[in-house]
Amino acid sequence: MSEAWKGKSPGAVSRRQFLAGAAVGAASLWLPGCRRSEKPSLSTLLGDFNPLRSYPYRGWENFYRKMWTWDKVVRSTHSANCTGSCSWNVYVRNGVMVREEQASDYPRINADLPDYNPRGCQKGGCFVEYVYSPQRLRYPLIRTGERGEGKWRRASWDEALTLVAEKLLDNVYNYGPDTNTFFSVIPAMSPVSFCGGSRLAHYLGGVMCSFYDWYCDLPPGEPLTWGVQTEACECADWFNSKYIVLWGSNISQTRIPDAHFAFEARYNGAKIVAISPDYNSSCIHADLFFQINPGTDGALAMGAARIMVDEKLYDEPYVKEQTDLPLLVLKQTGRFLRESDLKAGGKDDVFYFWDAVREQITPAPGAMGSEQKSIRLQGLDPALSGSYPVRLSDGRNVEVTTVFELLRARLADYPLDRVARLTGLPANEIQSFARELATRKPAMIIHGAGTNHWFHNDLLNRAFILLVALTGNVGKNGGGFNHYVGQERVWPEHGFFELAFPESRKKQRFQNTTLWSYAHSASKDPHLYNGKPIEWYIQESVKNGWMPLWPKDGRKPRAFIVWRANYLNQAKGNEILETSLWRDLDLIVDINYRMDTTALYSDVVLPAASYYEKVDLNSTDCHSYIHTFGKALDPLFESKTDWDIFRALAEKIAEVARKKKLKPYRDEFFEWERDFTRFAEDWTGKGTIVTDEQAADFILAHSKETQGMTYQNLQAQPRRFVATDPESWNSDVEEGVAYTPFKHQVEKKRPWRTLTGRQQFYIDHPWYLELDEALPAHKEPVAEKYPLYWNTPHGRWSIHSTWRDHRAMLRLQRGMPIVYMHPDDARRRGLRDNDWVRIYNDIGFCVCRMQILPGEKPGRVTMYHGWEKFLGFQQGGWQSLTYIKMKPTQLIGKYGHINFRLNYWGPTGNNRDIKVEVEKAKV
Ligand code: SF4
Repeated sequence: MSEAWKGKSPGAVSRRQFLAGAAVGAASLWLPGCRRSEKPSLSTLLGDFNPLRSYPYRGWENFYRKMWTWDKVVRSTHSANCTGSCSWNVYVRNGVMVREEQASDYPRINADLPDYNPRGCQKGGCFVEYVYSPQRLRYPLIRTGERGEGKWRRASWDEALTLVAEKLLDNVYNYGPDTNTFFSVIPAMSPVSFCGGSRLAHYLGGVMCSFYDWYCDLPPGEPLTWGVQTEACECADWFNSKYIVLWGSNISQTRIPDAHFAFEARYNGAKIVAISPDYNSSCIHADLFFQINPGTDGALAMGAARIMVDEKLYDEPYVKEQTDLPLLVLKQTGRFLRESDLKAGGKDDVFYFWDAVREQITPAPGAMGSEQKSIRLQGLDPALSGSYPVRLSDGRNVEVTTVFELLRARLADYPLDRVARLTGLPANEIQSFARELATRKPAMIIHGAGTNHWFHNDLLNRAFILLVALTGNVGKNGGGFNHYVGQERVWPEHGFFELAFPESRKKQRFQNTTLWSYAHSASKDPHLYNGKPIEWYIQESVKNGWMPLWPKDGRKPRAFIVWRANYLNQAKGNEILETSLWRDLDLIVDINYRMDTTALYSDVVLPAASYYEKVDLNSTDCHSYIHTFGKALDPLFESKTDWDIFRALAEKIAEVARKKKLKPYRDEFFEWERDFTRFAEDWTGKGTIVTDEQAADFILAHSKETQGMTYQNLQAQPRRFVATDPESWNSDVEEGVAYTPFKHQVEKKRPWRTLTGRQQFYIDHPWYLELDEALPAHKEPVAEKYPLYWNTPHGRWSIHSTWRDHRAMLRLQRGMPIVYMHPDDARRRGLRDNDWVRIYNDIGFCVCRMQILPGEKPGRVTMYHGWEKFLGFQQGGWQSLTYIKMKPTQLIGKYGHINFRLNYWGPTGNNRDIKVEVEKAKV
């Protein structure tokens, strides 16, 4: 080595010497210690050569290092309804958020379970860039052009809030408080933000819309069978399973932080079955892959149930105690045998089984009307089979039989060869699937939107639940039917409801959004149900008081306030809504941190703080921890937190009311005098809940789940819930044990929250009997005349529409809306990869690029959902092809446990049964 370089520190070499040395080296093809005449040897490379030590220019390194320095770290998370609820550190330097990093600070449940660390996804890893992106809303805006035209003027907060406050009050006094409608989603992901608006709706007498049923994330089979909204185990419990069925759930793409629990369960002896029409990124981990025909999952479930029953693979003691299968039904009417049938003045909610010990009909313990508040059988032995004579109170002698017998008769419709033909699956594989699901314990179904978005989602849910109930898997760690679509469950529920609707939920106008959107738009479902249009069922339902429809008496909604949501982009048939509902609305306000489709089509846009600029709480049903949004910075530009925006609006409403000397408004429906001059005092709880931190503390302090927790002490790291409120939960949070629901019922024999007090598979409501849905069944998807199913699932590169327009996410795909098609379908239509295609049906069309995907199922095309209308389509959008269609059976109410409750029971906005054709587009 040249003496000039050997052993010198970088500073010892001048720039002149370096350049001279470099020139010599270049001239002689110089390698350290190796001249052209010498043979290169390894030892010379391992010698003292160290380019970093000898290289004189280190400034660039410092520049690079500085990129990774910070002066503040704040813990926070994201709230886009991803169900992740992941803990992140946000790094701030000189008042700028520079990056985020997974915090990896979830305490471990126990050493034998994989832990939740680190937790996150690629979207969360680039949120900082979103915060500063051009999509970011900076100032209040008021529309100057047509809705959607993109013409705006900047307004002051005072001007924008005055406009909104005056219109809301004008509506109350001139058209009724129910003409003001409010829409926001998923309180669990940021309850303080949600409550800001819901409190305003509450004190104003406005209508609060649902989201969980509207987005079709609600699994209606759960309220029907279990009397709950949704109950699922936390994802760590997947590891405890020995048989995991991924049924319409692509966890590798949609549960990125949690998928590992399922795949790691294979090291714990689990088998994985993936059931999906396409070969997707979760299927590659499966031991058995069922490439099922779209819309035939119900047939597979019923076929598997038949095998379990025929081969007596069911758990008999469990079925007798925990399900309604032994309950007696009148053969003639199909109605349950009730106490009111047997004696005058008897109850409608007491039911019977045949006790094989005493050989007589016996009241089933634990039903809604039962004196016994336990389902323990106490020496009774309910018969599952047989027919029995019964004398009714009117003197008639009739025959009754069991639900199990009726189920057996129904299952007879699903012989193996028929199921194989319908599903396109090999008969022997279906057989071994049913046998393994029944015998490998515990077994669970992880259920997703892939199946839940079908029109007959309730029947599908019920058939799937039947499988895990027959085999005694519900209410046990590692077992059950676990549905994860949406972050719907608010763990600290009591505190949340107290904050959201302070004068009691009974004084709040709630509305199922599917029904509201259909009824107040030009939506039209062309199908008949049992010979009747859906309008007939809607009228009956509203008339009977089963479902509310606000505003009443044919009046139209007039103002629509949207926050934390992208209503228009995500709405089924959004073009129909745009040209009808939208035109009837006098005022549309969107509160948002980015310009999305709903914001673009609004009249007033109010800039909201992003996830990293606010104080809030966050929980999910995927884990049993609560944690916080930390404020890394004050809200950027002129944005404010949702809480502060609604507080400012409440103050403005009071100010306008005082200025206009408005007399108190008497809300006759609730018999409530609303004095709007005192609106701000009402909204702030007489000054006790002014800040968002006070709101967060209110929720924590008023919930059993979070006793002893405060916003401040939660900021350090996530904490596991300390208890569950038995009012609303069905299992305890146990130290060292992953949470799974329904242990209260299975272990403590607490009645299920249903009419019969059991897992109820038989619904004897007249509409269910009339439409032949009293028991689970397979029904074909709704008939549509086009050849290809239009599949719009949740994808990997966005959470719904959020991150759809993120530069980094667009670079990980083709950067624009893509429809995926099987090569055979493409060939038949003369289409080639990356062609512009026109996708159409009777509802509308869109034009986008097509990608050939061998993993796609022939007869179906897929576009991952959420693309904004303005983002890359030549024409139309992914919702241009959809429309709203409701199931009549989801409009019922006042049936024991089946009653309208916001986000709990109501018609779902399903979207899987849509069909389309695809052709080459002329662009
Ligand atoms: S977006 Fe959701 S899943 Fe992704 S890191 Fe954030 S919280 Fe986790």
